[in-house]
Amino acid sequence: MDTYRGIAGKKRRVRLGWEQLGWIALGTLACILGAVGVDLVLFANDDPDVKARVFFSAIVLPILLAVPLLTFLVMKISELKILNSVLVEIAETDSMTGLLNRSKFAEVASLQLREAAGSEVALLVIDADHFKQINDLYGHHAGDTALISVARCIFREVGGNGLVGRLGGEEFGVAVAEINLVDAWDTADRIRVAIADIDFRPGGNRHEITVSIGVTVARDVADFGAVFRDADARLYEAKAGGRNMIKIGSHGEQSMATSSDLTDALQKARAVSYTQPRAHEPV
Ligand code: GH3
Ligand code: MG
Ligand code: MG
Repeated sequence: MDTYRGIAGKKRRVRLGWEQLGWIALGTLACILGAVGVDLVLFANDDPDVKARVFFSAIVLPILLAVPLLTFLVMKISELKILNSVLVEIAETDSMTGLLNRSKFAEVASLQLREAAGSEVALLVIDADHFKQINDLYGHHAGDTALISVARCIFREVGGNGLVGRLGGEEFGVAVAEINLVDAWDTADRIRVAIADIDFRPGGNRHEITVSIGVTVARDVADFGAVFRDADARLYEAKAGGRNMIKIGSHGEQSMATSSDLTDALQKARAVSYTQPRAHEPV
């Protein structure tokens, strides 16, 4: 067993498990068989005493040489495998928040969208409001802490139901499959309220963090970019509408699920745009 420190700074252990031990044993056996086979041919006509010594060395030498050599090689291969997984992790995640980075999020979300034939996928674009103020008032480190809290909060609220990524800066993306407009609105509102509840106290006093959210619910759309642009346009509407709010709309045909007031309102409006009331009471 060896200790390997990956480039992400985490200690990674290279373990010799059954698989690795199996490869070492198999490799050693192959070396012995090879050596014995060659000796059988080369010393076929020699007397038994010579043969016995030759076979003895054909078994012992491979063990002495192959076992340490193969152990070293197997350990190196295991290290490379770990390093590769670290590199994949670095390439796909945002180092500060641990969420998927923009390109990985877009890749997986667009795959989700293509595979969701017949059902709807919601894309949420979440942007922290007046975030620059936090940096200006309390410093960049406090800003980072706030962003990490926001990321955790979104991740917690989405749970295992969707994909969460950091799109860049103070902007996050959420993609949820098999969801209708009402549930998408609910999800966005849960996130909005949970973020506003974060107990962020950078200078001792509480500073409320709010977000604006643009939501698009899409069905049978192959073009992730188009859905993303829709959600982004909703986000701008939410910003223009005063922030700390959700704007939701549809892209493609909708299937409405429940008969709640919200659903009716959305159906009547053909879900072009709906502004979530700030106090988040029923419409
Ligand atoms: P708006 O409500 O219009 O979105 O206002 P805003 O201030 O949030 O938007 P703006 O685009 O003007 O500023 C974004 C700020 O987010 C500025 C930038 O310094 C900050 N920011 C982006 N990424 C990070 C980060 O990783 N850490 C910190 N601390 N701040 C960041
Ligand atoms: Mg912002
Ligand atoms: Mg922004």
